[in-house]
Amino acid sequence: MNILQKIRGYAQNVPERAAVRCGAEALTYRELWEYSDVLAAWLKAHAGEEKQPLAVYGHKNPWMLVCFLACVKSGHGYCPVDISVPDARTAMILQALPDGPVLTTEDMQVDAGTKRVLTLEEIRKLAGAKNSNAPSETDWVTGGDTWYIIFTSGSTGTPKGVQISADCLSHYLDWSVGLGTTPEEKEGKVFLNQAPFSFDLSVMDLYTSLVSGGTLYCLEKSVQSDYKKLMESLAQSQAGIWVSTPSFAEVCLSEKAFDEKMLPQLRAFLFCGETLGNRTALKLMERFPKAAVINTYGPTESTVAVTDVTVTKEMAETVNPLPVGAAKPGTAIEIRDENGTTLADGEKGEIIILGDTVSTGYFCQEELTGKAFFLENGVRGYHTGDKGYLEHGMLFYCGRIDLQIKLHGYRIELEDIENNIRRLSGIEHVVVLPNERDGKVKSLTAYVVEEPLPENEREETARLKHELLAYVPEYMVPKKFVFLEQMPMTNNGKADRKRLKEELEKKTAGGRR
Ligand code: AMP
Repeated sequence: MNILQKIRGYAQNVPERAAVRCGAEALTYRELWEYSDVLAAWLKAHAGEEKQPLAVYGHKNPWMLVCFLACVKSGHGYCPVDISVPDARTAMILQALPDGPVLTTEDMQVDAGTKRVLTLEEIRKLAGAKNSNAPSETDWVTGGDTWYIIFTSGSTGTPKGVQISADCLSHYLDWSVGLGTTPEEKEGKVFLNQAPFSFDLSVMDLYTSLVSGGTLYCLEKSVQSDYKKLMESLAQSQAGIWVSTPSFAEVCLSEKAFDEKMLPQLRAFLFCGETLGNRTALKLMERFPKAAVINTYGPTESTVAVTDVTVTKEMAETVNPLPVGAAKPGTAIEIRDENGTTLADGEKGEIIILGDTVSTGYFCQEELTGKAFFLENGVRGYHTGDKGYLEHGMLFYCGRIDLQIKLHGYRIELEDIENNIRRLSGIEHVVVLPNERDGKVKSLTAYVVEEPLPENEREETARLKHELLAYVPEYMVPKKFVFLEQMPMTNNGKADRKRLKEELEKKTAGGRR
Protein backbone atom coordinates (compact mmCIF):
# COMPACT_ATOMS: atom_id res chain seq x y z
CA MET A 1 0.00 0.00 0.00
CA ASN A 2 1.06 3.61 -0.42
CA ILE A 3 1.05 4.76 3.20
CA LEU A 4 1.05 8.51 2.61
CA GLN A 5 -1.65 8.29 -0.07
CA LYS A 6 -3.82 6.39 2.39
CA ILE A 7 -3.36 9.03 5.09
CA ARG A 8 -4.01 11.80 2.58
CA GLY A 9 -7.27 10.05 1.68
CA TYR A 10 -8.47 10.35 5.28
CA ALA A 11 -7.28 13.97 5.47
CA GLN A 12 -9.52 14.66 2.45
CA ASN A 13 -12.52 12.48 3.33
CA VAL A 14 -12.71 12.79 7.12
CA PRO A 15 -10.61 15.93 7.74
CA GLU A 16 -12.02 16.70 11.18
CA ARG A 17 -11.56 13.20 12.60
CA ALA A 18 -8.89 13.03 15.33
CA ALA A 19 -5.78 11.30 14.00
CA VAL A 20 -3.99 11.36 17.33
CA ARG A 21 -4.82 12.17 20.91
CA CYS A 22 -2.24 12.53 23.71
CA GLY A 23 -3.75 13.73 26.99
CA ALA A 24 -5.59 16.98 26.32
CA GLU A 25 -3.89 17.53 22.95
CA ALA A 26 -5.16 16.21 19.66
CA LEU A 27 -4.67 16.77 15.94
CA THR A 28 -7.18 16.04 13.20
CA TYR A 29 -6.25 14.30 9.96
CA ARG A 30 -6.44 17.65 8.18
CA GLU A 31 -4.09 19.30 10.67
CA LEU A 32 -1.69 16.38 10.64
CA TRP A 33 -1.58 16.43 6.87
CA GLU A 34 -1.29 20.19 6.42
CA TYR A 35 1.25 20.84 9.18
CA SER A 36 3.45 17.98 8.02
CA ASP A 37 3.26 19.27 4.44
CA VAL A 38 4.50 22.73 5.42
CA LEU A 39 7.18 21.38 7.74
CA ALA A 40 8.25 18.99 4.98
CA ALA A 41 8.70 21.93 2.61
CA TRP A 42 10.99 23.56 5.15
CA LEU A 43 12.94 20.33 5.72
CA LYS A 44 13.36 19.85 2.01
CA ALA A 45 15.02 23.26 1.83
CA HIS A 46 17.00 23.11 5.08
CA ALA A 47 17.62 19.53 6.22
CA GLY A 48 20.58 18.77 4.00
CA GLU A 49 20.99 15.80 1.72
CA GLU A 50 17.85 13.92 0.82
CA LYS A 51 17.40 10.46 2.33
CA GLN A 52 19.59 11.28 5.32
CA PRO A 53 17.71 10.25 8.46
CA LEU A 54 16.72 12.92 10.99
CA ALA A 55 16.28 12.44 14.73
CA VAL A 56 12.87 13.17 16.24
CA TYR A 57 13.13 13.50 20.01
CA GLY A 58 10.28 13.63 22.47
CA HIS A 59 7.43 11.70 24.02
CA LYS A 60 3.76 11.20 23.34
CA ASN A 61 2.83 14.42 21.69
CA PRO A 62 0.67 14.77 18.54
CA TRP A 63 3.48 16.84 17.04
CA MET A 64 5.73 13.79 17.02
CA LEU A 65 3.49 12.46 14.24
CA VAL A 66 3.70 15.77 12.37
CA CYS A 67 7.51 15.44 12.51
CA PHE A 68 7.52 11.78 11.39
CA LEU A 69 5.33 12.51 8.38
CA ALA A 70 7.19 15.73 7.54
CA CYS A 71 10.45 13.78 7.41
CA VAL A 72 9.18 11.10 5.05
CA LYS A 73 7.31 13.61 2.89
CA SER A 74 10.56 15.54 2.43
CA GLY A 75 12.47 12.39 1.45
CA HIS A 76 14.17 11.87 4.82
CA GLY A 77 13.90 8.84 7.03
CA TYR A 78 13.44 9.55 10.72
CA CYS A 79 14.74 8.13 13.94
CA PRO A 80 12.43 8.37 16.96
CA VAL A 81 14.11 8.89 20.34
CA ASP A 82 11.88 8.82 23.42
CA ILE A 83 12.59 10.85 26.56
CA SER A 84 13.06 7.58 28.46
CA VAL A 85 16.31 6.99 26.54
CA PRO A 86 19.10 8.26 28.83
CA ASP A 87 21.05 11.28 27.69
CA ALA A 88 24.32 9.41 27.11
CA ARG A 89 22.52 6.99 24.79
CA THR A 90 20.65 9.78 23.04
CA ALA A 91 24.00 11.49 22.49
CA MET A 92 25.38 8.29 20.93
CA ILE A 93 22.37 8.06 18.60
CA LEU A 94 22.70 11.71 17.58
CA GLN A 95 26.38 11.17 16.91
CA ALA A 96 25.66 8.13 14.77
CA LEU A 97 23.23 10.10 12.59
CA PRO A 98 24.45 12.46 9.86
CA ASP A 99 24.19 16.22 10.23
CA GLY A 100 20.72 17.65 9.91
CA PRO A 101 18.19 19.25 12.23
CA VAL A 102 16.97 17.44 15.33
CA LEU A 103 13.23 17.85 15.73
CA THR A 104 12.20 17.97 19.38
CA THR A 105 8.84 18.08 21.11
CA GLU A 106 10.33 17.98 24.63
CA ASP A 107 13.26 19.67 26.27
CA MET A 108 16.45 17.85 25.25
CA GLN A 109 19.40 18.08 27.65
CA VAL A 110 21.89 16.54 25.22
CA ASP A 111 24.60 18.35 23.34
CA ALA A 112 23.63 17.90 19.71
CA GLY A 113 27.06 19.03 18.46
CA THR A 114 26.81 20.76 15.10
CA LYS A 115 23.20 19.68 14.60
CA ARG A 116 20.54 22.36 14.80
CA VAL A 117 17.91 21.61 17.43
CA LEU A 118 14.38 22.72 16.59
CA THR A 119 12.13 23.22 19.61
CA LEU A 120 8.43 22.43 19.60
CA GLU A 121 7.72 26.15 19.50
CA GLU A 122 9.87 26.56 16.38
CA ILE A 123 8.31 23.49 14.78
CA ARG A 124 4.80 24.80 15.42
CA LYS A 125 5.78 28.14 13.93
CA LEU A 126 7.37 26.62 10.84
CA ALA A 127 4.47 24.22 10.31
CA GLY A 128 1.89 26.94 10.83
CA ALA A 129 3.39 29.25 8.22
CA LYS A 130 1.81 29.79 4.82
CA ASN A 131 3.64 27.72 2.26
CA SER A 132 2.27 26.44 -0.99
CA ASN A 133 5.45 24.52 -1.89
CA ALA A 134 4.42 21.25 -0.29
CA PRO A 135 6.70 18.47 -1.50
CA SER A 136 5.20 16.34 -4.23
CA GLU A 137 4.79 12.58 -4.24
CA THR A 138 8.10 12.27 -6.04
CA ASP A 139 9.83 13.72 -2.97
CA TRP A 140 8.33 11.17 -0.58
CA VAL A 141 10.34 8.28 0.85
CA THR A 142 9.45 5.26 -1.27
CA GLY A 143 10.64 1.78 -2.22
CA GLY A 144 13.86 0.61 -0.62
CA ASP A 145 14.63 3.97 1.00
CA THR A 146 14.60 4.17 4.77
CA TRP A 147 11.34 5.27 6.34
CA TYR A 148 12.50 4.95 9.93
CA ILE A 149 15.47 3.82 11.97
CA ILE A 150 14.93 2.34 15.40
CA PHE A 151 17.91 1.90 17.67
CA THR A 152 17.92 -1.30 19.68
CA SER A 153 20.15 -2.59 22.43
CA GLY A 154 23.58 -3.53 21.06
CA SER A 155 26.09 -5.96 22.53
CA THR A 156 28.97 -3.50 22.16
CA GLY A 157 27.30 -1.01 24.49
CA THR A 158 26.51 1.05 21.40
CA PRO A 159 22.94 0.86 20.13
CA LYS A 160 22.32 -0.53 16.59
CA GLY A 161 20.08 1.37 14.19
CA VAL A 162 17.67 -0.95 12.37
CA GLN A 163 16.69 0.56 9.03
CA ILE A 164 13.15 -0.07 7.85
CA SER A 165 12.31 0.88 4.29
CA ALA A 166 9.04 2.21 2.89
CA ASP A 167 8.51 -1.15 1.18
CA CYS A 168 9.06 -3.10 4.42
CA LEU A 169 6.60 -0.92 6.29
CA SER A 170 4.06 -1.10 3.51
CA HIS A 171 4.27 -4.93 3.30
CA TYR A 172 3.91 -5.11 7.06
CA LEU A 173 0.83 -2.86 7.01
CA ASP A 174 -0.83 -4.84 4.20
CA TRP A 175 -0.94 -7.64 6.75
CA SER A 176 -1.38 -5.81 10.07
CA VAL A 177 -4.60 -4.08 8.97
CA GLY A 178 -6.21 -7.53 8.97
CA LEU A 179 -4.97 -8.65 12.39
CA GLY A 180 -7.75 -9.46 14.85
CA THR A 181 -10.49 -7.79 12.77
CA THR A 182 -11.04 -7.23 9.07
CA PRO A 183 -9.49 -4.04 7.62
CA GLU A 184 -13.03 -2.66 7.22
CA GLU A 185 -13.80 -3.24 10.89
CA LYS A 186 -10.64 -1.31 11.83
CA GLU A 187 -11.71 1.81 9.93
CA GLY A 188 -12.05 4.78 12.26
CA LYS A 189 -11.38 2.80 15.43
CA VAL A 190 -9.38 4.07 18.42
CA PHE A 191 -5.97 2.39 18.65
CA LEU A 192 -4.29 2.23 22.00
CA ASN A 193 -0.64 3.25 22.05
CA GLN A 194 1.33 1.96 25.04
CA ALA A 195 4.89 1.63 23.69
CA PRO A 196 7.16 4.66 23.32
CA PHE A 197 7.83 5.61 19.69
CA SER A 198 11.44 4.46 20.03
CA PHE A 199 10.21 0.88 20.58
CA ASP A 200 9.03 -0.72 17.34
CA LEU A 201 5.89 -2.17 18.92
CA SER A 202 4.53 1.39 18.60
CA VAL A 203 4.61 1.00 14.80
CA MET A 204 1.87 -1.62 15.15
CA ASP A 205 -0.57 0.94 16.57
CA LEU A 206 0.76 4.16 15.03
CA TYR A 207 0.72 3.19 11.35
CA THR A 208 -2.03 0.58 11.44
CA SER A 209 -4.18 3.33 12.91
CA LEU A 210 -3.16 6.01 10.39
CA VAL A 211 -3.79 3.78 7.36
CA SER A 212 -7.17 2.73 8.81
CA GLY A 213 -8.36 6.28 9.47
CA GLY A 214 -8.16 5.46 13.17
CA THR A 215 -7.40 7.65 16.18
CA LEU A 216 -4.15 6.91 17.97
CA TYR A 217 -4.77 7.17 21.71
CA CYS A 218 -1.43 7.62 23.49
CA LEU A 219 -0.83 6.62 27.08
CA GLU A 220 1.89 8.89 28.41
CA LYS A 221 4.61 7.70 30.75
CA SER A 222 3.13 9.70 33.63
CA VAL A 223 -0.24 8.02 33.07
CA GLN A 224 1.21 4.52 32.78
CA SER A 225 3.09 4.90 36.04
CA ASP A 226 0.01 6.08 37.97
CA TYR A 227 -2.46 3.22 38.26
CA LYS A 228 -5.48 5.43 39.02
CA LYS A 229 -4.76 7.76 36.10
CA LEU A 230 -4.15 4.77 33.85
CA MET A 231 -7.55 3.25 34.59
CA GLU A 232 -9.27 6.62 34.14
CA SER A 233 -7.51 7.16 30.85
CA LEU A 234 -8.41 3.68 29.60
CA ALA A 235 -12.04 4.22 30.58
CA GLN A 236 -12.10 7.43 28.52
CA SER A 237 -10.25 6.00 25.56
CA GLN A 238 -13.09 4.17 23.73
CA ALA A 239 -10.30 1.92 22.45
CA GLY A 240 -11.27 -0.54 19.73
CA ILE A 241 -7.84 -2.05 19.08
CA TRP A 242 -5.42 -2.75 21.90
CA VAL A 243 -1.68 -2.93 21.19
CA SER A 244 0.75 -3.63 24.04
CA THR A 245 3.21 -6.05 25.52
CA PRO A 246 1.59 -8.88 27.49
CA SER A 247 3.19 -7.48 30.68
CA PHE A 248 1.23 -4.26 30.31
CA ALA A 249 -2.05 -6.16 29.90
CA GLU A 250 -1.15 -8.15 33.02
CA VAL A 251 -0.79 -4.91 35.00
CA CYS A 252 -4.23 -3.80 33.79
CA LEU A 253 -5.78 -7.17 34.62
CA SER A 254 -4.97 -6.68 38.28
CA GLU A 255 -7.79 -4.09 38.28
CA LYS A 256 -11.16 -5.82 38.66
CA ALA A 257 -12.97 -3.11 36.72
CA PHE A 258 -10.78 -3.72 33.68
CA ASP A 259 -13.35 -5.46 31.52
CA GLU A 260 -15.84 -5.09 28.71
CA LYS A 261 -17.82 -2.46 30.62
CA MET A 262 -14.73 -0.25 30.78
CA LEU A 263 -13.88 -0.77 27.09
CA PRO A 264 -17.14 -1.70 25.34
CA GLN A 265 -15.77 -1.01 21.84
CA LEU A 266 -12.73 -3.26 22.18
CA ARG A 267 -12.53 -5.87 19.41
CA ALA A 268 -8.89 -7.03 19.39
CA PHE A 269 -5.87 -7.37 21.63
CA LEU A 270 -2.65 -7.40 19.60
CA PHE A 271 0.40 -8.61 21.48
CA CYS A 272 4.05 -8.80 20.55
CA GLY A 273 7.51 -8.58 22.06
CA GLU A 274 7.44 -11.20 24.78
CA THR A 275 5.73 -14.37 25.89
CA LEU A 276 1.97 -14.21 26.20
CA GLY A 277 1.02 -16.38 29.15
CA ASN A 278 -1.89 -18.82 28.92
CA ARG A 279 -3.52 -17.45 32.06
CA THR A 280 -3.32 -13.89 30.74
CA ALA A 281 -4.96 -14.91 27.47
CA LEU A 282 -7.77 -16.76 29.30
CA LYS A 283 -8.47 -13.86 31.64
CA LEU A 284 -8.70 -11.46 28.71
CA MET A 285 -11.13 -13.75 26.90
CA GLU A 286 -13.31 -13.99 30.00
CA ARG A 287 -13.40 -10.26 30.62
CA PHE A 288 -13.64 -9.21 26.97
CA PRO A 289 -15.77 -11.83 25.23
CA LYS A 290 -16.11 -9.67 22.08
CA ALA A 291 -12.35 -9.12 21.60
CA ALA A 292 -9.98 -11.44 19.73
CA VAL A 293 -6.68 -12.19 21.46
CA ILE A 294 -3.85 -12.22 18.93
CA ASN A 295 -0.32 -13.32 19.64
CA THR A 296 2.31 -12.07 17.20
CA TYR A 297 6.07 -12.52 17.05
CA GLY A 298 8.93 -10.69 15.43
CA PRO A 299 12.06 -8.58 15.90
CA THR A 300 12.58 -4.91 15.03
CA GLU A 301 14.84 -6.24 12.25
CA SER A 302 11.82 -7.59 10.43
CA THR A 303 9.40 -4.69 10.89
CA VAL A 304 7.61 -5.36 14.17
CA ALA A 305 6.08 -8.79 13.62
CA VAL A 306 5.96 -11.62 11.11
CA THR A 307 3.64 -14.26 12.57
CA ASP A 308 0.18 -14.26 14.12
CA VAL A 309 -2.27 -16.57 15.74
CA THR A 310 -5.73 -16.01 17.16
CA VAL A 311 -5.62 -17.59 20.58
CA THR A 312 -8.73 -19.68 21.24
CA LYS A 313 -9.99 -20.72 24.67
CA GLU A 314 -9.22 -24.34 23.88
CA MET A 315 -5.68 -23.43 22.81
CA ALA A 316 -5.09 -21.36 25.95
CA GLU A 317 -6.34 -24.25 28.11
CA THR A 318 -4.34 -27.00 26.43
CA VAL A 319 -1.24 -25.65 24.64
CA ASN A 320 1.49 -24.38 26.97
CA PRO A 321 3.42 -22.29 26.02
CA LEU A 322 1.15 -20.72 23.44
CA PRO A 323 2.29 -20.73 19.81
CA VAL A 324 3.42 -17.39 18.40
CA GLY A 325 1.71 -17.95 15.07
CA ALA A 326 2.07 -18.72 11.39
CA ALA A 327 4.13 -16.60 8.99
CA LYS A 328 2.42 -13.66 7.31
CA PRO A 329 2.16 -13.55 3.52
CA GLY A 330 5.50 -12.55 1.99
CA THR A 331 7.45 -14.14 4.86
CA ALA A 332 8.89 -17.61 5.31
CA ILE A 333 10.02 -18.91 8.69
CA GLU A 334 12.61 -21.65 8.83
CA ILE A 335 14.31 -23.37 11.72
CA ARG A 336 17.99 -23.96 11.09
CA ASP A 337 20.84 -25.49 13.03
CA GLU A 338 24.23 -23.83 13.51
CA ASN A 339 25.41 -25.21 10.16
CA GLY A 340 22.55 -23.58 8.34
CA THR A 341 20.68 -26.85 7.73
CA THR A 342 16.92 -26.52 7.75
CA LEU A 343 15.39 -28.66 10.47
CA ALA A 344 12.25 -30.77 10.35
CA ASP A 345 8.98 -30.04 12.16
CA GLY A 346 9.34 -30.33 15.93
CA GLU A 347 13.14 -29.90 15.94
CA LYS A 348 14.49 -26.91 17.83
CA GLY A 349 16.93 -24.48 16.24
CA GLU A 350 17.39 -20.86 15.32
CA ILE A 351 14.38 -19.01 13.94
CA ILE A 352 15.30 -17.61 10.51
CA ILE A 353 13.09 -15.01 8.87
CA LEU A 354 13.07 -14.65 5.09
CA GLY A 355 10.92 -12.16 3.29
CA ASP A 356 9.67 -8.77 2.28
CA THR A 357 9.78 -7.06 5.67
CA VAL A 358 13.37 -7.94 6.58
CA SER A 359 15.42 -4.78 7.20
CA THR A 360 18.06 -3.60 4.78
CA GLY A 361 20.52 -3.74 7.71
CA TYR A 362 21.97 -1.72 10.56
CA PHE A 363 22.65 1.92 9.83
CA CYS A 364 26.34 2.42 8.97
CA GLN A 365 27.29 -0.92 10.57
CA GLU A 366 28.38 -3.13 7.71
CA GLU A 367 30.07 -5.75 9.81
CA LEU A 368 27.13 -6.27 12.12
CA THR A 369 24.78 -6.22 9.15
CA GLY A 370 26.84 -8.91 7.43
CA LYS A 371 26.64 -11.13 10.50
CA ALA A 372 22.90 -10.90 11.04
CA PHE A 373 21.46 -10.42 7.54
CA PHE A 374 21.88 -12.35 4.30
CA LEU A 375 20.46 -12.64 0.82
CA GLU A 376 19.17 -16.02 -0.37
CA ASN A 377 17.78 -16.47 -3.88
CA GLY A 378 17.11 -12.75 -4.01
CA VAL A 379 15.19 -12.76 -0.71
CA ARG A 380 16.46 -10.94 2.40
CA GLY A 381 16.99 -13.09 5.45
CA TYR A 382 17.68 -12.44 9.13
CA HIS A 383 19.19 -14.59 11.88
CA THR A 384 16.94 -13.80 14.84
CA GLY A 385 19.11 -15.41 17.51
CA ASP A 386 15.82 -16.80 18.86
CA LYS A 387 15.29 -20.48 19.47
CA GLY A 388 12.11 -22.14 18.28
CA TYR A 389 10.41 -24.95 16.41
CA LEU A 390 7.65 -25.33 13.85
CA GLU A 391 4.63 -27.61 13.89
CA HIS A 392 2.59 -27.64 10.67
CA GLY A 393 3.55 -24.04 9.96
CA MET A 394 2.85 -22.89 13.52
CA LEU A 395 5.86 -21.34 15.24
CA PHE A 396 6.74 -21.95 18.89
CA TYR A 397 9.25 -19.66 20.60
CA CYS A 398 11.73 -21.12 23.09
CA GLY A 399 13.82 -18.12 24.17
CA ARG A 400 17.02 -16.42 23.13
CA ILE A 401 20.02 -18.34 21.86
CA ASP A 402 22.38 -15.60 22.96
CA LEU A 403 22.02 -13.50 26.04
CA GLN A 404 19.42 -11.10 24.83
CA ILE A 405 16.40 -11.15 27.05
CA LYS A 406 13.06 -9.47 27.48
CA LEU A 407 12.21 -7.73 30.73
CA HIS A 408 8.73 -6.18 31.05
CA GLY A 409 8.57 -6.08 27.26
CA TYR A 410 11.91 -4.34 26.80
CA ARG A 411 14.57 -6.04 24.79
CA ILE A 412 17.89 -6.09 26.59
CA GLU A 413 21.26 -7.56 25.71
CA LEU A 414 22.94 -8.49 28.95
CA GLU A 415 26.38 -7.67 27.57
CA ASP A 416 25.13 -4.17 26.90
CA ILE A 417 24.46 -3.67 30.62
CA GLU A 418 27.74 -5.34 31.51
CA ASN A 419 29.67 -3.05 29.21
CA ASN A 420 28.09 -0.05 30.85
CA ILE A 421 28.65 -1.33 34.41
CA ARG A 422 32.28 -1.73 33.46
CA ARG A 423 32.40 2.03 32.96
CA LEU A 424 31.77 2.60 36.68
CA SER A 425 34.68 3.16 39.02
CA GLY A 426 35.92 0.23 41.10
CA ILE A 427 34.46 -2.49 38.87
CA GLU A 428 36.84 -5.32 38.02
CA HIS A 429 34.52 -7.83 36.49
CA VAL A 430 30.80 -8.12 35.93
CA VAL A 431 28.21 -10.61 34.77
CA VAL A 432 24.52 -9.79 34.58
CA LEU A 433 22.01 -12.61 34.79
CA PRO A 434 18.27 -12.76 34.39
CA ASN A 435 16.17 -14.03 37.25
CA GLU A 436 13.53 -16.25 35.69
CA ARG A 437 10.32 -17.64 37.04
CA ASP A 438 7.76 -19.66 35.03
CA GLY A 439 9.81 -19.10 31.87
CA LYS A 440 9.70 -15.31 32.21
CA VAL A 441 12.42 -12.89 33.22
CA LYS A 442 11.37 -11.15 36.43
CA SER A 443 14.46 -9.14 37.31
CA LEU A 444 18.21 -8.86 36.78
CA THR A 445 21.12 -9.58 39.11
CA ALA A 446 24.59 -8.16 38.56
CA TYR A 447 27.57 -10.10 39.90
CA VAL A 448 30.45 -7.70 40.34
CA VAL A 449 34.00 -8.11 41.43
CA GLU A 450 35.33 -5.03 43.21
CA GLU A 451 38.73 -4.56 44.70
CA PRO A 452 38.56 -4.09 47.67
CA LEU A 453 35.13 -5.51 48.46
CA PRO A 454 32.79 -2.78 49.70
CA GLU A 455 32.34 -2.39 53.43
CA ASN A 456 28.74 -1.35 53.08
CA GLU A 457 27.10 -3.34 50.26
CA ARG A 458 23.83 -1.49 50.46
CA GLU A 459 25.48 1.89 49.96
CA GLU A 460 27.68 0.56 47.18
CA THR A 461 24.66 -0.93 45.40
CA ALA A 462 22.90 2.45 45.60
CA ARG A 463 25.97 4.20 44.16
CA LEU A 464 26.30 1.77 41.25
CA LYS A 465 22.59 1.94 40.43
CA HIS A 466 22.67 5.71 40.51
CA GLU A 467 25.79 6.02 38.34
CA LEU A 468 24.57 3.40 35.87
CA LEU A 469 21.49 5.52 35.16
CA ALA A 470 23.75 7.93 33.31
CA TYR A 471 24.33 5.27 30.65
CA VAL A 472 21.31 3.00 30.44
CA PRO A 473 17.54 3.36 30.85
CA GLU A 474 16.05 2.53 34.24
CA TYR A 475 14.67 -0.81 33.07
CA MET A 476 18.22 -1.98 32.36
CA VAL A 477 19.52 -1.29 35.86
CA PRO A 478 19.82 -4.63 37.73
CA LYS A 479 17.62 -4.95 40.78
CA LYS A 480 20.30 -6.70 42.81
CA PHE A 481 24.08 -6.43 43.01
CA VAL A 482 26.07 -9.32 44.43
CA PHE A 483 29.69 -8.59 45.37
CA LEU A 484 32.23 -11.32 44.70
CA GLU A 485 35.88 -11.71 45.51
CA GLN A 486 36.46 -13.60 42.31
CA MET A 487 34.44 -14.41 39.22
CA PRO A 488 34.03 -18.15 38.69
CA MET A 489 35.74 -19.16 35.40
CA THR A 490 35.20 -21.91 32.83
CA ASN A 491 38.09 -23.93 31.45
CA ASN A 492 38.26 -21.53 28.56
CA GLY A 493 38.93 -18.66 30.92
CA LYS A 494 35.51 -17.14 30.44
CA ALA A 495 33.19 -16.04 33.20
CA ASP A 496 31.15 -19.07 34.19
CA ARG A 497 27.61 -17.84 33.65
CA LYS A 498 26.20 -21.31 34.03
CA ARG A 499 27.58 -21.68 37.52
CA LEU A 500 26.41 -18.25 38.57
CA LYS A 501 23.00 -19.01 37.13
CA GLU A 502 22.75 -22.24 39.08
CA GLU A 503 23.60 -20.37 42.25
CA LEU A 504 21.04 -17.71 41.45
CA GLU A 505 18.39 -20.39 40.85
CA LYS A 506 19.28 -22.11 44.12
CA LYS A 507 18.95 -18.80 45.95
CA THR A 508 15.65 -17.96 44.24
CA ALA A 509 14.22 -21.40 45.07
CA GLY A 510 15.48 -21.02 48.64
CA GLY A 511 13.95 -17.58 48.94
CA ARG A 512 10.55 -18.79 47.81
CA ARG A 513 10.39 -21.69 50.20
P1 AMP B 1 12.24 -6.24 19.63
O1 AMP B 1 13.15 -6.13 18.47
O2 AMP B 1 12.53 -5.28 20.71
O3 AMP B 1 10.81 -6.22 19.22
O4 AMP B 1 12.52 -7.68 20.28
C1 AMP B 1 12.43 -8.82 19.48
C2 AMP B 1 12.55 -10.04 20.32
O5 AMP B 1 11.45 -10.15 21.25
C3 AMP B 1 12.45 -11.31 19.50
O6 AMP B 1 13.66 -11.60 18.86
C4 AMP B 1 12.04 -12.31 20.56
O7 AMP B 1 13.17 -12.72 21.32
C5 AMP B 1 11.10 -11.51 21.47
N1 AMP B 1 9.69 -11.71 21.08
C6 AMP B 1 9.01 -11.07 20.13
N2 AMP B 1 7.75 -11.52 20.05
C7 AMP B 1 7.61 -12.48 20.97
C8 AMP B 1 6.54 -13.36 21.37
N3 AMP B 1 5.32 -13.30 20.83
N4 AMP B 1 6.78 -14.25 22.35
C9 AMP B 1 8.00 -14.31 22.94
N5 AMP B 1 9.05 -13.51 22.61
C10 AMP B 1 8.86 -12.62 21.63
